[in-house]
Amino acid sequence: MKLTGNLLIGASEVGATAGTLQALNPATNEKFGPDFALGGAAEVERAVQLADEAFDSYNATSLEVRAAFLDRIADGLDANAPALAERISLETGLPAAQFLGEAARSATQFRQFATVVRQGRFRQAAIDPAQPERQPRPRMDHRMQKIAVGPIAIFGASNFPISYSVAGGDTASALAAGAPVIVKAHNAHPGGSEIQARVIQQAVKDSGLHEGVFSMVRGEGNAIGEALVDHPLIKGVTFTGSEVGGMALYRRAQQRPDPIPVFTEMTSVNPTFILPIALFERGATIGDGFAERMLVNVGQACLKPAILLAIDGVGYSELKQAMIERISAMQARTMLTPGINLAYRKNVEAQRAAGAEQIAAGAGPTGEWDGQSFLFEVDGARLLDTPALLDEVFGPSALLVRVRDDEQLLAIARRFRGQLSATMHLERADHALATRLLPILERRTGRIVINAFAHPQEVSYATIHGGPFPATSDSRFTSVGMGAIERFLRPVTYQGFPDELLPEALQRANPRGLWRLNDGELSKA
Ligand code: NAP
Repeated sequence: MKLTGNLLIGASEVGATAGTLQALNPATNEKFGPDFALGGAAEVERAVQLADEAFDSYNATSLEVRAAFLDRIADGLDANAPALAERISLETGLPAAQFLGEAARSATQFRQFATVVRQGRFRQAAIDPAQPERQPRPRMDHRMQKIAVGPIAIFGASNFPISYSVAGGDTASALAAGAPVIVKAHNAHPGGSEIQARVIQQAVKDSGLHEGVFSMVRGEGNAIGEALVDHPLIKGVTFTGSEVGGMALYRRAQQRPDPIPVFTEMTSVNPTFILPIALFERGATIGDGFAERMLVNVGQACLKPAILLAIDGVGYSELKQAMIERISAMQARTMLTPGINLAYRKNVEAQRAAGAEQIAAGAGPTGEWDGQSFLFEVDGARLLDTPALLDEVFGPSALLVRVRDDEQLLAIARRFRGQLSATMHLERADHALATRLLPILERRTGRIVINAFAHPQEVSYATIHGGPFPATSDSRFTSVGMGAIERFLRPVTYQGFPDELLPEALQRANPRGLWRLNDGELSKA
């Protein structure tokens, strides 16, 4: 696939109106072509107008047409996976094999959403038939289904350049819901973004859909993102990135004359609690496993386990030693962008300044944007006095907390802000303490893991990738897994409708054979 560097707005290619940028290989610090077009408010206006024009026909597509469209995107991702992986490897300095896996995950995600669409359960069809004889007053026929909220703006993430980017889970779930999508591509991987956008653009064409179903814009600075969030025809936003950026966009959307939902995924330290008998039985194994997971993707993962808490006792020194060994043996590796590397260095220093003691360091950097691995330790009392130590350090650094006793462990657990995940390592004899810890964790996280680490991320029906603020801006939803579609749906009741005016999911003959809530009973009737 030849890259032009153009913005893809509906079926059109649009050249630069606000300058250009080139991709950067952070491993070599070299920029390389082509020149990628940057746009501004005019390009946003065109893309959003097209999305709005596309809305009615796309929202009304039959389930089969929409599902086949999602399958075509999956096929396109598969067909282009080698080129995509190669390009993103150059744009991140990370191995291409990693991105073959990510492309496959994204393709699978689109196919899974095609299944969700075919099943039609996302409509949540509910039918309360007329009861003309009901006393004291008759009931009219009521039917409810969920439809898409409208065009969605998606901010692609830097750290998973496919599965959280242009053809990532946000795009897949929004398109499955029936919402046209405009992606603001992340500038860290412009070529990879273009390949994904072209795959989707081609699938729109091959499916005979309105061109406005998908557009990709790109810009530098905040203006383009702000124009998207401000646009009155945009009806929802998704974002993965920093807390500062996510909250700026969230607040902006709430200040519109018509506030809209903004689903941000921002920051999480994914605390890991080692309960005493597990520490006694297998402290070294847990320490090694934790450090290994912490270092995946140079620590640039939303599910990176960053803080490990253990009550000082038998097994603690083995745990600590195993972590020191793995982290000390680590080479420094290129981080995703210069900006992320600079933020990492600053946050490591902030952790040191807050009183955490460095107990291990990997090899020093050789490339300009390499991230050196670190392990810090702090005691529980200090942590309780220093809330800044609970902040995320995005990169290959972890904090080991030496806890005094059960009560201090529970007190620290209560200090955590909202998290994407929390983990407990335990044995049967730890269950009494786990029972006390569990409700504290339930209130603070979207996923609780026992005796494993929070990777790899499953994409399935029971997946929750979400949690209370600041992990996300709306703890009621997930951004990964089949439930992600719910962010883009809203319910509509059709009252007293003749059959021919009803949407397919609510028609009396149930032509698609959908599961529906029929007068309170789940049935295919
Ligand atoms: P970011 O700076 O938050 O940017 C994400 C996207 O949002 C970019 O496209 C950016 O555009 C745009 N954006 C950010 N703030 C904006 C604003 N106020 N108005 C309009 N658009 C805005 O995230 P990043 O570049 O991916 O990484 C920076 C830091 O975010 C990392 O160091 C890390 O701490 C955190 N991060 C966390 C996660 C996680 O999963 N927890 C994932 C990724 C990053 P521009 O690039 O054009 O500015």
